[in-house]
Amino acid sequence: MSLLFSRPLLKLSGESLSGGGNGVKAEAVARTAEDIAEAVGMGCRMSVVVGGGNFFRGGRETGLAMERPQADGVGMLATCMNGVILRAALEAAGVRARVFSALAVGDLGGAAEAYGRRAALAWLEARGVAIFVGGTGHPYFSTDTAAVLRAAEMGCDALLKATKVDGVYAADPHGGGFRGGERYERVSYDEALERRLGFMDAAAVALARDVGLPILVFSFGEAGNLG
Ligand code: UDP
Repeated sequence: MSLLFSRPLLKLSGESLSGGGNGVKAEAVARTAEDIAEAVGMGCRMSVVVGGGNFFRGGRETGLAMERPQADGVGMLATCMNGVILRAALEAAGVRARVFSALAVGDLGGAAEAYGRRAALAWLEARGVAIFVGGTGHPYFSTDTAAVLRAAEMGCDALLKATKVDGVYAADPHGGGFRGGERYERVSYDEALERRLGFMDAAAVALARDVGLPILVFSFGEAGNLG
């Protein structure tokens, strides 16, 4: 898939590093890194935005007595953890990577640095993988929105959204009792917003529409799907 694009941004949910469920699994992390390494080997300039849902999601349903901005803060910290773990795995796979954080988290042993657009652009030019963490740095957003934002800032030619399913459905086929929904081969931004297709939140889709960024939804469930 990435052969089609020379400068994609890959959006990974936190679950790509856990193989589903909580925490991280060494095997899932290594496989994700190998897939990215393969795309880099084909000449892609790779940007990656990683989520944090394998550790923590803010929003309304935490069940914890926490204010939303603080719960979202914890969610954003979770993305930083994933980015540092992914960087190490990429380096173990022979790929140079840097972690650019929208949150001030310190350098975490030399693994992370504050996000700066020019530094990240220069790193992509040097054919390093740029991993963006901390989401947008603001509560009430998702890492999908952060992915569109960074893709726009990095001049990416597409956003590749890795999910558990192989495309866009009228309802989430892995969610609440739904079976057999209509699968879209192509869908316009406006239709996605109008029909509230759940593959991405509305803020992310609206921003992608405004900047004209193509979004490809693909299944990350099997090795080699990125290539
Ligand atoms: N988050 C946030 N602002 C952002 C991006 C993320 O507050 O710009 C928080 C939010 O609480 C979210 C959590 O970080 O639930 C983890 O991100 P996300 O749910 O997008 O992770 P994914 O589902 O992709 O693993």
